[in-house]
Amino acid sequence: MTTPSPHPVHLVGAGPGDPELLTLKAWRVIRAASVILVDDLVGERVLESALDGVAPPPRVVHVGKRGGCASTPQDFIEKLMVREALAGERVVRLKGGDPLVFGRAGEEVAALRAAGLEAVVVNGVTSALGAAASLGIGWTDRGVDAQGVLLVTGHTRLDGDGQDWDAIGRVAASGVTLVVYMGITRLPAIVDALRTHLPADLAVAVVQHATTDRERALRGTLGGLVGLVASHGIGSPAILIIGRVTEAARVAARSGELDADATRVISY
Ligand code: SAH
Repeated sequence: MTTPSPHPVHLVGAGPGDPELLTLKAWRVIRAASVILVDDLVGERVLESALDGVAPPPRVVHVGKRGGCASTPQDFIEKLMVREALAGERVVRLKGGDPLVFGRAGEEVAALRAAGLEAVVVNGVTSALGAAASLGIGWTDRGVDAQGVLLVTGHTRLDGDGQDWDAIGRVAASGVTLVVYMGITRLPAIVDALRTHLPADLAVAVVQHATTDRERALRGTLGGLVGLVASHGIGSPAILIIGRVTEAARVAARSGELDADATRVISY
């Protein structure tokens, strides 16, 4: 039998990168923490800004798992979280975006509960919402008959083709905006599969490092997406938004040109 910690463990969303997108609740909980376990997708400036003036500073442990690369194994992170909490620490598990969106929060909550600990989730702004805000577009728009949104991962757990892209393409063709997280590595295969149901000239947008000062946004078509991403050297982390809502994406420059501050590219 373990003795439950008096403190719940907080699974906190850091938002997409802009420190001002941190919620007040996240900010308060981070500042009250004694140990913070941080994923590597958490924007560098977020933690720095949230901890500004906190003394003594909490212990910060980086436990990132950058998509696909060697990283701290999940069960090690869970054990660490449990160990620190049982030792009486006020533990914050800080994750990029929202912990409930492709954030393995379910697994971590289960591990905490199994150890007799209370888990509290604090929402964050998910990166795809940050990306949409940067582009100035909605996920849904009656004007272009976009009646819903489907969030999918391009990187499935088994690393095989676990995702039914044919079915996803069919849903997107019915007037649902498709938002793909972790889609860059397998982009050619994803686009190929989606093309069965979606036209080559369908509007798409890609946003890398959304809401940070490294943000880059591109607009194009589904048929040209692979070339667009390759020619601009867009890598992870990036969000793909596929659907007619992206036709209205804010255009900062003509095809391929950098705009004045050279951080933002939008192409046709
Ligand atoms: N929980 C996170 C998602 C984690 S999965 C959230 O709610 O946003 C990791 C993926 O999120 C990345 O591969 C990328 O697709 C996306 N992502 C995270 N931060 C991003 C950012 N600042 N800009 C664009 N995409 C981002």
